Amino acid sequence: MMFPLRVSDLKQYIYCPRIIYYYYVLPIPRRVTRKMEYGKLEHVEITRLEKRRRLKAYGLLEGERKFQVHLESSRLGLHGLLDMMITTAGGQVYPVEFKYSPSKKGLHVKYQLAAYAMLLEESLRKPVRYGFLYLIPSKSVMPMEITSSMRDYVKKALTAIRNIISGERVPVYTRSKSRCVNCEFKNYCTDSGW
Ligand code: SF4
Repeated sequence: MMFPLRVSDLKQYIYCPRIIYYYYVLPIPRRVTRKMEYGKLEHVEITRLEKRRRLKAYGLLEGERKFQVHLESSRLGLHGLLDMMITTAGGQVYPVEFKYSPSKKGLHVKYQLAAYAMLLEESLRKPVRYGFLYLIPSKSVMPMEITSSMRDYVKKALTAIRNIISGERVPVYTRSKSRCVNCEFKNYCTDSGW
């Protein structure tokens, strides 16, 4: 059986592979930061507002929304909680991820969305070609095609994450030192400049 991973592990891996090591190999007690608490509260509020929103923002005339959808795949050894799923009367399915940052960039969100699309495909047994990012600060919606290269990256990243866990070696740290500034593990990374 494959080591079970969470969709959010992809985000951590893309941010810095070393976070995976600290999380799984060298378990360090994690404290819930105010930012995390705030994030949870904001999520609840967005879900409440989103229930009243029209689907026009997604370029759709109709559809049924489901929130906080638990998805898992034994094939990928992956599970996660999708923010929202839209199903149209015609049977099209779209994953939607809520994003707190104002930036449209951020590879991790793109690949998280691809991972959710793959989980949906497996659980519903139908193709999922597009998804949406909902950018919370600007209240805007960004459509995204789920390409084959995104799917390939997700699979490669899951293998790389499992290699970190089974290899039990500290991976190289992120090349972007600015990421270390807000990292909750920075006190453990003595060679990253801290
Ligand atoms: S402090 Fe920097 S190198 Fe260490 S885990 Fe965090 S982001 Fe990675």
